[in-house]
Amino acid sequence: MDFSGLSRQYQALSPGILTAVGEVLEEGTYIGGAQIKTLEDALARRSGARFALGCANGTDALTLALLAFGARPGEAVFLPAFTFAATAEAVALRGATPVFVEVDESFTLDPAALEEALDRTRREGRLRPAGVIAVDLFGLPADYGRILPLVRREGLWLLEDAAQSFGAARGGRAACSFGEIAAASFFPTKPLGCYGDGGAVFTSRSRRAELLDSLRLHGRGIEKYDHRILGLNSRLDTLQAAILLEKLKVFDRELARRREIAAFYTERLSGAVRTPVIPAEAEPSWAQYTIRLPDRMQRDRMKLHLSIRGIPSAVYYPKPLHLQGAFACFGLRKGALPFSETLCEQVLSLPVHPYLTDDEVCCVADAVLEALREGAGLL
Ligand SMILES: *Cc1c(COP(=O)(O)O)cnc(C)c1O
Repeated sequence: MDFSGLSRQYQALSPGILTAVGEVLEEGTYIGGAQIKTLEDALARRSGARFALGCANGTDALTLALLAFGARPGEAVFLPAFTFAATAEAVALRGATPVFVEVDESFTLDPAALEEALDRTRREGRLRPAGVIAVDLFGLPADYGRILPLVRREGLWLLEDAAQSFGAARGGRAACSFGEIAAASFFPTKPLGCYGDGGAVFTSRSRRAELLDSLRLHGRGIEKYDHRILGLNSRLDTLQAAILLEKLKVFDRELARRREIAAFYTERLSGAVRTPVIPAEAEPSWAQYTIRLPDRMQRDRMKLHLSIRGIPSAVYYPKPLHLQGAFACFGLRKGALPFSETLCEQVLSLPVHPYLTDDEVCCVADAVLEALREGAGLL
C-alpha cells in the first residue's frame, strides 16, 4: 500500500497527462504559456477568490503575500506552532518575528490563544502586531468565523496558508477565499498536486492582485525591463499548469473519495482512538487523516504495528516550530506551548488518498483496531 497514491493516480490519468505535456513541449512556450491563464481562471472559479496567480511553490506563495503586506523587522506575525516549517520560515526570512500560538483540538489556530498572544505582544510593546497567518492544517479551514473579527478589530492583515486545503470549505465558503491573501501549494502530495514544485496566491482585491503579479516577476512595472520594486522570480511553468489542468478534471471526484474514506475511518475508529475533530460546518479536503494516540510510546507502537502489516503512516509533525533549531532565536523553550508539544507526540496520519480500494481502507481500520487491542493487553 502506498501513502500518497501518486503512482495509481498516474496510471489512471496518464493518457490525458501525456497528451497535455506533449502539447506544451511541441508548442514550446515553456514559460508563460496559455495554459497558465486557463489554470488561474479555473483555480479562481473553484476557490471563490476573484484572482488566482500561479507561482513557483507554496513557500514562495507565502513569501509573495508577505512582500505584498510589507512584513518587516520589528513586526510580529502570529501563526500556529503546529504546522510545517515553511509557514514561519517565510516570516523570519522577511526579518519579521513569528509569534507562535497554540492550536486547538481541531489542529488549527486557537482563536482564544491568538487573542491572548496579541494582548501580550501589545503589553510588552517590543514588536508591532502586523498580521496573522492561519493554517488550514490537514485540509481543515481554520476557525475564520472567530479569527476574522479579531483580525479586523486589531487592524491586522490575514494570510491564509491554504497549502493543504485547496477544495475544502467551511461555513459554505471555499478555502483560499478567507485571507486577504491565500497561499496554496501544488507540491505532488498535496490534494491538488503537480509533478514538481508549484503554488498559487489568491486574493479578491484587484490592487493586491496587480502587486502580487509584479512581485512574482522581479517586481516588473507595466513595461518589460522596468523594475519598480524588489520581487522574486516565482513563476508556475507551463508544463506544471498543463498537468494541473488535467488533474483538476478529476479533482472533485477525488475529493469525494477522500471524504468517503475519512467518514469510514471515523465511523470505524471513533470511540477506540481520537479521530479528527471536524466542526459541523466544515468540509475538509482531507490532505491528511490524523488520529491521536495517548502518548509517544503508543503512537510509535501503532506506527510499527501498521508498518509490519505493510500499511504506511506518517507523523505530521514530530516537533513544534518553537522547538525547531531554526526558530530557537525567538526564545521559546519546551513547555511554552504545551498542547502543540503534546500533539507532536500523539499524532499519526493514516493513508487517505483517493485511489485506495475499499478492501485497503478496511484493512487500515482493522489494523488500527487490532493494534489497540494488543496494546491494551500489554498495559
Ligand atoms: C506544503 C506546505 C507549505 C509549503 O509548500 P511548498 O510548495 O512545499 O513550498 C507551506 N505550508 C504548509 C502548511 C504546507 O503543508
